[in-house]
Order: sequence, then structure tokens, then C-alpha cells
Amino acid sequence: MKREFAVIGLGRFGGSICRELSEEGMDVLAIDADEDKIDEFKDIAAHAVIADTTDDKVLKELGIRNIEHVIVAIGDNIQASILTTIMLKELGIKTLTVKAQNDYHEKVLKKIGADYVVHPERDMGRRIAHSIISTNILDHLELSDDHSIVEVKAGKRMDGKTLVDLDIRAQYGCNIVAIKEADEKGINVSPMATQTIEADDILIVIGADKDISRFEKQLV
Ligand code: ADP
Repeated sequence: MKREFAVIGLGRFGGSICRELSEEGMDVLAIDADEDKIDEFKDIAAHAVIADTTDDKVLKELGIRNIEHVIVAIGDNIQASILTTIMLKELGIKTLTVKAQNDYHEKVLKKIGADYVVHPERDMGRRIAHSIISTNILDHLELSDDHSIVEVKAGKRMDGKTLVDLDIRAQYGCNIVAIKEADEKGINVSPMATQTIEADDILIVIGADKDISRFEKQLV
């Protein structure tokens, strides 16, 4: 079924969301106050409209209240982002995803009822920092302020050992939830404690950041 989305603010972040959703066949209403942006997106999104979403009347006229999920990707203008979010909430939009510019903005957005607050620059910075620290860390996904999932190449120290030998849960407080074996395409999502790990295997580890960090330092 074709799902309906609206993307407000077609900068680098909102524009990329709009493109991707449209390429996936979704019905996207693209909105920006800048005429040039609307020109750029008129052949990409199903509908593209010039509008300033801080104007209550304009927002209502767009018929946005019927759209299930709205993404607010207004960049630097934090005031416009907050005002737009409040009015969308008042219109009863079911799901609101809003881009935050900084931690203070994020706090306000959560307070006024944004369902998902995203912080793309900060999160991508963190992910890249983790993969720079250790060449074995392939990816890092934040679950909360202090919990994450990391994808890590097992490396020499774990080579030939079983999960029982390594005793990761007791020693480090984190869990290996899946193992991608180097020579196989598949992924084992419920590894047995007796499974032997090889240096090239990729482990998916979940846990508190401080525990994962200890695990990374001592075993990876
Ligand atoms: P990014 O950092 O993702 O590139 P930008 O700040 O460059 O974000 O882009 C934000 C977009 O939001 C711009 O295209 C701008 O025209 C649009 N925008 C800003 N304020 C409003 C508003 N009140 N109503 C609609 N669009 C807006």
C-alpha cells in the first residue's frame, strides 16, 4: 500500500529523506518556504508546495492533517522548527519525526510531543568516531543515551574461542546477539554458547556503552 508522508524543509537532510521515500514509491508531500527548493523537488516528490509552515492558516490549507507521518527537517531556524512542531501536534498528526539542531532543541522537541527526535550530524559523528577509534568497529547504533549495538570484527584475540570460553556476558555485561560468519552469507541470530568464533567473524554486540567500551578495549 502506498503510504503518505510530508517532509517540511528540503535541505540536505530533509531533501535526502524526501528523495529516498519517493524512490521507494511513497506518496510524499514536499514543503519548503524557498521556491528554488520546490523547483528542485517538483519532479521528485508526488506533490511539492511552497509554504511557510510557521503560519497556522497556511499549514491548515495544506491538508496536512490527513497525513499519517510528518518529518520536520527545518535546519537552522530552531524557532520555526519548534513552532511548526507545536502546530502539527495540535492538528493531531499521528507520527512526528523532527530534526534537532542541538541538545537544547532536542529537549524542547521531546517536551512538546515530537515522537522521534533525530540528530543526524551528532549521531553520524559518533558512529564515525567509533569506527575511527578501532578499525574493527564496523558500525555503532545508539539505542538510548547509554546503550548501543555495535558491529565488530572479532579479531585475533577471540579467534578459535567459544562464547563460553570468552564468558562475555559475565565478564563484560554485554550480549552477542548475532554472529555473521566470514565465509558464509548468512547470519546466526541465536548463537550457541559452544560456537567457535573466528577472527573474521562479525559480532553484533548489545549492551551499556561503558560495558561495550571495556569489551572493545580488552577483546577487540
Ligand atoms: P540542512 O542542515 O538539513 O541542510 P537547511 O537548514 O539547509 O538544513 O535547510 C532547511 C530547509 O528548511 C531550507 O530549505 C529552508 O528553506 C526550509 N525552511 C526553513 N524555515 C521554513 C519554514 N518556516 N517553512 C518551510 N520551510 C522552511
